[in-house]
Amino acid sequence: MQDEHFDYIIVGGGSAGCVLANRLSAEGNNKVCLLEAGPEDKTLFITIPGAFAYFMFTKKYNWSFDSEPVGDIRKGEPVFCPQGKGLGGGSAINAMIYIRGHRVDYDHWASLGNEGWGWEDLLPYFKKNECNERGGDELHGDSGPLYVSNCRNYYPINERFLQAASESGFPLNNDFNGPEQEGAGLYQFTIRDGKRCSASHAYLRPVRTRTNLSVECHALASRILLEGNKATGVEYRQKGEIRRIYADKEVIVSAGAYNSPKLLMLSGIGGEDALTSAGITPFHVLPGVGENLQEHVDSCVLQESRKSDGFRTSLGGLLKMWREPFRYLFGRKGKLESSITQAGAFLKTAPDLPAPDIQLHFLPLLYDDSGRNLKLMAQSGYSCHVCVLRPKSRGRMTLRSADPAEPPRIELNFFDHPDDRKTMANGIRVARKILSASSFDDYRGAEMNPGPDAQSDDEILARCKEKLGLVYHPVGTCKMGNDEMAVVDSSLRVHGLDALRVVDASIMPTLIGGNTNAPTMVIAEKAADLILKGK
Ligand SMILES: Cc1cc2nc3c(=O)[nH]c(=O)nc-3n(C[C@H](O)[C@H](O)[C@H](O)COP(=O)(O)OP(=O)(O)OC[C@H]3O[C@@H](n4cnc5c(N)ncnc54)[C@H](O)[C@@H]3O)c2cc1C
Repeated sequence: MQDEHFDYIIVGGGSAGCVLANRLSAEGNNKVCLLEAGPEDKTLFITIPGAFAYFMFTKKYNWSFDSEPVGDIRKGEPVFCPQGKGLGGGSAINAMIYIRGHRVDYDHWASLGNEGWGWEDLLPYFKKNECNERGGDELHGDSGPLYVSNCRNYYPINERFLQAASESGFPLNNDFNGPEQEGAGLYQFTIRDGKRCSASHAYLRPVRTRTNLSVECHALASRILLEGNKATGVEYRQKGEIRRIYADKEVIVSAGAYNSPKLLMLSGIGGEDALTSAGITPFHVLPGVGENLQEHVDSCVLQESRKSDGFRTSLGGLLKMWREPFRYLFGRKGKLESSITQAGAFLKTAPDLPAPDIQLHFLPLLYDDSGRNLKLMAQSGYSCHVCVLRPKSRGRMTLRSADPAEPPRIELNFFDHPDDRKTMANGIRVARKILSASSFDDYRGAEMNPGPDAQSDDEILARCKEKLGLVYHPVGTCKMGNDEMAVVDSSLRVHGLDALRVVDASIMPTLIGGNTNAPTMVIAEKAADLILKGK
């Protein structure tokens, strides 16, 4: 397909890219090409919701980036930054929790000058995206491509978490995406009939037979082709060859929060110093590319359990699971039909806050280092992970060199801002309060982290830093806005260039208060509308 022309070229077949491929090719006169660096998503591991852990150990479907070491965090070791690779992108390897965020997040985007991005503007797109098994109403969709199902709870300790939250004075909430986000409850999931509903399953597979849609896997975009001020095509590497394809209408970059700014920089679009220090001649100076990186910083209370009805990687624990593959394969039932994170909460660390400022993910196992700490997980225990929903610290992503195959340099700068440290320390106290409620009395063993001797903010943070991780929600590196650090405008067009947009999690000016898959798909739904209307 050397020198082939398309109307639209989409770089990246992840959560956003699959939505765009579907919507832009729906009009038969648009010829669309989707380039994906990773493989097709034809593996049972992607289908099985309970196979989440597999992706933390494979580089086939995970870019498996590492951050630069961040001071004494994780004792100076890099923080693992998983990112989906292959059709479906993050949605093919994520924990499938369906969350939209809080209305204040989107109203904040609009208040920054991003017209059309307030909560009321985006609600129709959330509904268009969603098919909720509970049916539709004024807040929920019942006929969109993304299937959303209730939690199938196989761990009795999840019920204890809910009882304990209630006992501790927190409200219960059976719909975090309903009128109120605050409270503790069971999550809903992007799972359909026991199978993961990734963006690829929801949006791409049903339209793969369209003759005006080409999907190229193992195609690593290495450069956007630019003539004058206009994007005209994409250069990419596939099967050892360098190929070029051309876009008569637009190039759309949807490569995710690390790889989208990386591709812009490889094409000479970015801050002057950031480009020249990587050996790239600046073509179009945009200092915000790769800056403004935000992530949900996460730490946890780890508690030993006196019961062994959770998940363990010990021989005994694995033997207890022997029936599960059969239950799943012959009926899509059992522990493998669900995500391992089932219960959680959105809570406020101070009562006068306008919205919850922490999210809890409760797990019936000892979860650390993205599930890669198998030794810890061999013991009986449970974890309550705490994340700071709206971090004020800002990191950045830069290039190591001009080689497209090199991973980006990721500087997370967690805890730069004192408010983030305070929120985390208070969040850990909230988690401890719930875990010490009498509902857990027959489960509770010793607190392993932060440990009972850690009581002051400094003591709590010192221990939490050792177990620090991410919720895998990087955003903000090609932020939407009008200030000098903005990369795209409110139509997601790259400032100062024609026929080039960025459409993915990287355009979020600020991180939303919740998990980011559905919000990213909604960004793509809105972008598709803007593109097709010529805006
Ligand atoms: C382990 C994990 C767990 C998560 N859990 C949840 C959860 O439970 N709920 C939730 O809501 N969110 C979750 N998320 C976050 C959510 O999945 C992401 O926010 C979302 O997928 C981001 O979508 P995106 O389109 O911006 O990027 P991605 O989905 O990452 O898509 C980018 C795509 O571009 C491809 N690509 C990159 N560079 C190139 C290139 N140069 N050329 C061609 N292709 C390229 C990538 O391979 C990838 O397929 C999780 C994420 C991870 C990684």
